[in-house]
Amino acid sequence: MYEVIFAADRGFYVSSFKRKPDEPYTKPGCTFCAIRDRDPGVFTRRIHMDEEAIVLMNIYPYSPGHLQVIPPRHVEKLEELSHEELAYLMEYLQRSIYLAQETLKPEGYNIGINLGEAGASIPHIHIQLVPRYDNNPSLGQDKIHDIYLKNLDMMKGVERDIRMEDGSEPKIREIGEEVIEGDRIRVGLSSKPYNRGHMILLMPRPFHKETPDRLARIFFTAVKYKAVLERAYDPDGFNIGMNLGKVPQGSSRALHLVPRFRRESGFMEVIASTRIIVETLDEAERKILELVTSSPP
Ligand SMILES: [Zn+2]
Repeated sequence: MYEVIFAADRGFYVSSFKRKPDEPYTKPGCTFCAIRDRDPGVFTRRIHMDEEAIVLMNIYPYSPGHLQVIPPRHVEKLEELSHEELAYLMEYLQRSIYLAQETLKPEGYNIGINLGEAGASIPHIHIQLVPRYDNNPSLGQDKIHDIYLKNLDMMKGVERDIRMEDGSEPKIREIGEEVIEGDRIRVGLSSKPYNRGHMILLMPRPFHKETPDRLARIFFTAVKYKAVLERAYDPDGFNIGMNLGKVPQGSSRALHLVPRFRRESGFMEVIASTRIIVETLDEAERKILELVTSSPP
């Protein structure tokens, strides 16, 4: 079972950067740095900008109200962010959820980070927040920008009591754990992986109920396990993300860490909605456990 979002605006964008195989990944100049520096030549729909976080509306959205939370400093690897920088981004991600929740009233969200060759078109780290709806509201980008700007004071509120219907907890094969302030984060391989090595970190509370500081520590735990997956599989990139609320129907306590491989796709994925994983779960478990035991993350 899979869902479809029709995001027509994005088509113009993605066809603008078709890359030849031998071209380097990074393009000269960085759109997000230009936005940070208020370059008048770059069109943007800014929501918030301070010394530590930038919140923009994605101008080629997946869905109405799609936001991006970005560190002002040009960083291409999650591990290069400081704890303070990441905690601040998490805080603004939560504030952005609150703003979207109170104004556009979606049924849920996808949160995601694309690393390396896993779908990121701008290498400067950015966290995507994609509101999900039963029925997409027919509001234009200008109108949504207006709504967001008019309600910006909501982002500043400290009380962010968001209620969201949660999906069921995904099944994992446990391979490790991290204890944060007495709470156990369970780390395991997904029993229904998108790719080999697909890991899930199960948090004690839903994303929107956690503190930014603890979220930063949980994301850095994912970064440590990403290093294990790099040693095990040498993937071309990673997707890190979460599904919150009723429409994505995920668990808002599950942080997914998914290695991406350029050449592992085919008609079964595309036509039969079925993933082919080129390794058994037992093999993956053995391989990862061996690495985790020989040098703990
Ligand atoms: Zn940049």
